[in-house]
Amino acid sequence: MNTQDYIALEEQYNAHNYHPLNVVLDRGQGIWVWDIEGNRYLDFLSAYSAINQGHTHPRILQALIDQASKLTLVSRAFRNDQIALLAKELCELTGFDTMLPMNSGAEAVETALKAARKWGYKVKGVPENQAQIITCEGNFQGRTISIVSFSTEAQYRDGFGPFTPGFVTVPYGDAAALEAAITPNTVAFSLEPIQGEAGVIIPPDGYLQQVREICTRHNVLMMADEIQTGLGRTGKLFACDWEGVKPDVVTIGKALSGGFYPVSAVLARQDVLGVFKPGDHGSTFGGNPLGAAVAREALKVIVDENLIENAVQQGEYLKGRLERIESEHIAEVRGRGLLIGVELKPEAGGARRFCEMLKDEGLLCKETHDNVIRFAPPLIIQREDLDWALERIEKVLMTA
Ligand SMILES: *Cc1c(COP(=O)(O)O)cnc(C)c1O
Repeated sequence: MNTQDYIALEEQYNAHNYHPLNVVLDRGQGIWVWDIEGNRYLDFLSAYSAINQGHTHPRILQALIDQASKLTLVSRAFRNDQIALLAKELCELTGFDTMLPMNSGAEAVETALKAARKWGYKVKGVPENQAQIITCEGNFQGRTISIVSFSTEAQYRDGFGPFTPGFVTVPYGDAAALEAAITPNTVAFSLEPIQGEAGVIIPPDGYLQQVREICTRHNVLMMADEIQTGLGRTGKLFACDWEGVKPDVVTIGKALSGGFYPVSAVLARQDVLGVFKPGDHGSTFGGNPLGAAVAREALKVIVDENLIENAVQQGEYLKGRLERIESEHIAEVRGRGLLIGVELKPEAGGARRFCEMLKDEGLLCKETHDNVIRFAPPLIIQREDLDWALERIEKVLMTA
């Protein structure tokens, strides 16, 4: 079968809920992936930051194989050794009291929303069914009905109503708007410390600290979605660390497994996750020993290989070089660590065509919204690989 055959099969039998670049990949190692024709590409998306450790990392692979040959799933009806060790190691690494393991990012967000509501009723004393959660314009937190209920992206909602009530939206980056929206029934404020899907939108300096202060003063939970920005991507363990801010609740996923397995988690103080009693919430696969063993090793790799420090160093270099490209198409370069968005001018004809051209040059990137190219290579990337990529990025942005 050739590339066109695979594309035709997928188009025929798979739902069309994505518009992928037409490259059929069958192998990955480190920062590189290969298509079925043997062409090599530098992965500059990292599966939306799930591959921070690089593809098929040998240590995580070994942990997967070892655990898969011992025990994979027992459900939470019984205990397993790996969930206990993951819980301890993850809490020690992040400084949180407790964690609750799930699978996808959206499930972690749903879990955080449920915890916040229950905390509101049981701890804060909000009247039953009155809890409100404040969210941000431009948010992306997943695709479930409750999560798209507070999306401000028309396409994510169109055709999926009726929606879950209890959400209020404020402009992102505007602390005064947050404070004005808080009522006695507000239980939580949910935000991404950098909005990745919205186009790598970085809030004004001091915003996270102001949010922290406002949430504390009004007894509102600050819930940070670090599913994309967390685990080293922005050059800190969490993007909130850039302002020295500790949220009450953090959701993580994606790189928590280095891309081997869907593993996500909610991290929080004991009084928040403590509202869950046996039977309140659960997941058949959440906290399974295979996912937990993979996550344990994925976290160790981030620490042992100094991926956070590397994200700072290489991110500064990449951003600096991108800023110096004198292309008439570029409106702005912004980013932190190795999460960088290049916003193109409206007249550039959209980011998609640049991603297509970069693919032909051997660089895989994805547009986010119409005019932003997101650059997010694996955090193991080195200077010479960035030089290789920059040569191609410059060529495409200068000639197209
Ligand atoms: C990817 C993402 C999610 C959803 O994660 P899934 O695993 O795709 O469900 C939630 N929040 C943010 C910020 C994300 O980037």
